[in-house]
Amino acid sequence: MGLISVPVDPVPAWAKIDLQLHQPYHTFLGLGRVRCDWCGEKWGRHGCSSRESAARLFLYTTTRTQKAAALDSGEITPDDLRLRRRTPARHRRKPSPHPRRQPPVNPLAALGITELAAVLR
Ligand SMILES: [Zn+2]
Repeated sequence: MGLISVPVDPVPAWAKIDLQLHQPYHTFLGLGRVRCDWCGEKWGRHGCSSRESAARLFLYTTTRTQKAAALDSGEITPDDLRLRRRTPARHRRKPSPHPRRQPPVNPLAALGITELAAVLR
């Protein structure tokens, strides 16, 4: 029954690995722009895009104590705490290239209201 007592870490491993791997470094002895040490992408407010998505997922899956520990160790910055999902989680559907078949035209709708009233009279 040892398995039950094993604490389950809800944070995916790749998110934690990405947070470790993608670190900023200064080109040209600290005079150049800050870039990601791992993928070379420009370092923005939340790092490169890989780090940003890892940080975002970390914030969504982690517990409060883990978050505090990550803040202390510098894996997460206070700026990252404001990261939010940009798009809703549901998948967006592309509009179909084939237009939907038009509903059958109601023959009564083709007639104007006044004509309809005349027919009914
Ligand atoms: Zn990176």
